[in-house]
Amino acid sequence: MGKVILLLSDGLRYDAAVAGMGFLGHLVETKQASLYEVQGELPSMSRPMYETTHTGLVTSEHGIVGNSIVRRSTKPNLFDLASKAGMITAAAAYYWFSELYNRAPYDPIEDREVDDPKLSIQHGRFYTQDDYPDLELFLTAAMLARKFNPDYLLLHPMGMDYLGERYGADSSEYRNRAIFQDAWLAPAIVEWLEKGYTILVTGDHGMNNDRLHGGTTPDVRQVPLYLVAPNLSGSGDTGQMISQLQIAPTVCKLLGLQIPETMKHPSVV
Ligand SMILES: [Zn+2]
Repeated sequence: MGKVILLLSDGLRYDAAVAGMGFLGHLVETKQASLYEVQGELPSMSRPMYETTHTGLVTSEHGIVGNSIVRRSTKPNLFDLASKAGMITAAAAYYWFSELYNRAPYDPIEDREVDDPKLSIQHGRFYTQDDYPDLELFLTAAMLARKFNPDYLLLHPMGMDYLGERYGADSSEYRNRAIFQDAWLAPAIVEWLEKGYTILVTGDHGMNNDRLHGGTTPDVRQVPLYLVAPNLSGSGDTGQMISQLQIAPTVCKLLGLQIPETMKHPSVV
C-alpha cells in the first residue's frame, strides 16, 4: 500500500509544462521521474475532467457533461474508494471538488474547511475564487501533508487556467506560471518523497490562445503526466501518449486499492 499526492494543475497544457517546469524536467532528464503525454477527454472543460480524472470514465458515462452539472459523483471515484478502504484523504482544491465528492451545493462557510472522517474528502480546504493565489494553495497542501499524513492528497491550483483565460496561452503570464508552480513544488516534492509519497503532476485540460478551452484541438486536450516514485526510479521522457482514463486506475494501483470494474483502462505502473 502506497501513498499518493496528485497535483492537478488546472489548465496546464503539455507544452507549457515541458517548457516551464524545470525541476520536474531535471527529474525526467535524469530518469528519476517518468513523463507521459496525456490525451485528454472531451469536452476539455474543468468539472467534467475533474470527474474523469477521478473515475476513469468518459463524460457520457459519468454524466458530468458540463460545468453546470452541480451534483455529487455517482460513480466509483478515488476519494470514495480510498475513504471506504479506511484510508485518509485530503484535498486543497477548488470548491467544485467539494461538490463532486463531499456535498452539493457548496456552502462557502460550512464546507470551506472540513475535518471529518465520515466524508470522502476527509480533510478539505476549498477556495471559490479563480484568482486564489497558487502559492497559498501549495502551502495549504503542504500543511495537510504534514498534519494529517493522508494516503491520498489532491492539490489543485487554478493559476494556469486563470492566467490562460485572461491573457491566452501565448502569453508570458501563462507560460511563466508553469515556472512558478514548478519552483513552489520543488521543495515540497523533496519533502513528500522522504515521506514515501508517489507524486503525480497533470492537468485537467490545456488552453488555447483565444483564452479558452473546451474544444477538441491538441492545445486544449494534451496535458502532461509526470510520475515521481519514492525510489526515484523513472523512465525519463517515455514519448508515450496515454489516455486520461488511465490516471484513476494508476492512482488506485499505487494506493493498493482494488481497481473497480468501471475503470477499464490500464494503469501506467
Ligand atoms: Zn479546468
